[in-house]
Amino acid sequence: MIERNPISGDAVIVAPGRAARPNEFRQMSDRCPFCPGNESDTPPEIWRDGDPWQIRVFPNKYPATEDHEVIVEGSDHARGFDQIAADVAARAVNAWIDRYRAMSRSSRYVCVFKNHGVLAGATILHPHSQILGVPFIPSRIAKEAEAFTSRCALCELRDEKIDATQNYRWIAPRGSMMAYEQWIVPVHHTNEMREGLELASLLQRAARAMLAISDSFNWMFINFPQQPAAHWYVQLFPRLTMHAGFELGTGSAINTVDPRTAAQRFGGSRP
Ligand SMILES: [Zn+2]
Ligand SMILES: [Zn+2]
Repeated sequence: MIERNPISGDAVIVAPGRAARPNEFRQMSDRCPFCPGNESDTPPEIWRDGDPWQIRVFPNKYPATEDHEVIVEGSDHARGFDQIAADVAARAVNAWIDRYRAMSRSSRYVCVFKNHGVLAGATILHPHSQILGVPFIPSRIAKEAEAFTSRCALCELRDEKIDATQNYRWIAPRGSMMAYEQWIVPVHHTNEMREGLELASLLQRAARAMLAISDSFNWMFINFPQQPAAHWYVQLFPRLTMHAGFELGTGSAINTVDPRTAAQRFGGSRP
């Protein structure tokens, strides 16, 4: 169910069913629904890669909306995205892109994201990502899409570089919200993700770099459907602090780490 904030009109998904989902970190269950052999614990599979499988896609058992899927990345419960084989990581990225496209046909916006660790909001340890389609353009996306109509800030951006590949720049942008926040930005201007290329290897490196700082991290794919002037990117950060009263009360952030320091910590240099 979608409700609107009475003042701003911002959409809120009301999903009481999600409160019932088990929390593996809280109650030590002995059976992981994402492990091989327990496939019957999840809703019927949408797609799998390989036999025995390395990647599985299925609807979220506790969906926030009608379009809410889980992508399990690897059959090994304890091997995180930073540790899975390079080819499995690359196939996971392709699976996100395929499902993003498929869900974009029925949802106005599709958010691809990973919650790794307790502070990032994960309730199951087994490495996985989620894809959530919503019947509205989220206010953050609408606001950024509007900003792109006058100029492409990401084509112009020359902020602290951590590394670059042929098709992506990995940077610690100035004015970022979270400590050690990074963006992975495609070199070529496109508003939606279309191909993985070196993205999997950059994400694996970023995951390793973040896990050296915190047990938890998030990444989110920020796409701009129907807005060719916009430039898609991946936003990533380790979870160190909680957003608290000031951030929630103002929508403004206090970042305790200078992005220049973050770039150097991750092995980058000043531009
Ligand atoms: Zn498992
Ligand atoms: Zn651009």
